[in-house]
Amino acid sequence: MYAVSSPYPQYVVAKFGGTSVADFDAMNHCADIILANSDVRVVVLSASAGVTNLLVALATGCDSNKREKCLKQIRDIQYAIIDRLNDVDVICEEIDRLLENIEMLSEAASLATSEALTDELVSHGEVMSTLLFVELLRQRNANAEWFDIRRIMRTNDHFGRAEPDTLQLHISAVEQLQPRLNNTVVITQGFIGREEKGRTTTLGRGGSDYTAALLGEALNLQRVDIWTDVPGIYTTDPRVAPTAKRIDKIAFDEAAEMATFGAKILHPATLLPAVRCGIPVFVGSSKDPQAGGTLVCDKIENPPLFRALALRRKQTLLTLHSLKMLHARGFLAEVFTLLLRHNISVDLITTSEVSVALTLDTTGSTSTNGSLLTNALLTELSTLCRVEVEEDLALVAIIGNELSQAKGLGKAIFGALESFNIRMISYGASSHNVCLLVPGKDAESIIQKLHQNLFKV
Ligand code: ADP
Ligand code: ASP
Ligand code: MG
Repeated sequence: MYAVSSPYPQYVVAKFGGTSVADFDAMNHCADIILANSDVRVVVLSASAGVTNLLVALATGCDSNKREKCLKQIRDIQYAIIDRLNDVDVICEEIDRLLENIEMLSEAASLATSEALTDELVSHGEVMSTLLFVELLRQRNANAEWFDIRRIMRTNDHFGRAEPDTLQLHISAVEQLQPRLNNTVVITQGFIGREEKGRTTTLGRGGSDYTAALLGEALNLQRVDIWTDVPGIYTTDPRVAPTAKRIDKIAFDEAAEMATFGAKILHPATLLPAVRCGIPVFVGSSKDPQAGGTLVCDKIENPPLFRALALRRKQTLLTLHSLKMLHARGFLAEVFTLLLRHNISVDLITTSEVSVALTLDTTGSTSTNGSLLTNALLTELSTLCRVEVEEDLALVAIIGNELSQAKGLGKAIFGALESFNIRMISYGASSHNVCLLVPGKDAESIIQKLHQNLFKV
């Protein structure tokens, strides 16, 4: 995206997710990877596994019993790492100060919670993991420096799902981060940023992948390495279908489609910066780097018809019935204006003469308000039409290439699913996916069955 050439075109940004920094041994695997490749100069970390969930729970405002339990669990996770380090006086002081801060903020949240307070609280997870990791690297004689990403990651104030200002990030990263890369490994936080007034924001759950890609773009680096708990991107989540196979090379648009439709391996926005500046992204396992991984790059020769299956849980279907729709104009416009006013983004949609069915996009946010369907929205909608709400559904996406041109697709997909109920189908709007809305309880069996039939394993 930026015309400026990098003084360090060979350097790599490496991101390590929550399980990769879960404990002392896991952190040591990350250190091995960094120390084995002197081109890794920017390192982005998530919070240690479990910490963000605990912080989100504290941010919802819990009673003092639950609060004590969560605080103890967070302290235990971080102290299990400290206990394996040497000379811990300084790091103990820093972590204790952050733990006290967390306690104070969670007490405030139990009186009155807010999205800004939630982001301030959850940001502590990444701040603690990065401080601990710098200490571990220094004890392994690496020249590592802690850097507060909020100095350069300027975002808007959509707490829980903030959008970065990429131009500002580029300018500040070149000014403040680039000069440090010459002889140091910079360790910084994924997921968090800062809005104009100086308040902490977050980029949405799983947002550390996005941070790494944004830094790769801002500094015009050679590659973005995403180190996680599986050795690459698979044809579907290997936890759901153990027969899933690794994809060795995949195109940006295919991987982006997978991420958008719920493949947790990458945050949905991760590939936007990579596509804009053509930086390849590698995905591998921090525990087993020798196992290789997946390279996400610009183009693939002869991509397959079926590439992958993705699953997004907790979907809500809203069906709006109105006789006014028949031969009328403007009904959909009214519905969408109302949804816009309630800041709701629509995902899938199908219409018939007198009804419209749609699913809501609920992915990503740290917002403590889990459901997007507020009473205010339902009341307003019911003045326009009869509203039906179905919850506990799941979205299964079949991702591939030129699907809309393929013959026999219907038989291949629906033949495999003859014993299941399918609530809604979206096909034709994109040649890269076919989406099925299914009962949540059947989702895993459907993935397994489809995987068996479409990938012949
Ligand atoms: P991290 O904490 O490193 O960011 P995540 O838990 O966010 O890791 O993502 C890794 C997980 O993504 C894997 O453990 C796996 O269960 C899940 N996953 C979902 N879809 C896929 C897929 N297609 N290929 C590989 N892993 C997948
Ligand atoms: N720690 C954050 C989360 O759990 C961000 C991330 O891990 O990418 O969502
Ligand atoms: Mg993740």
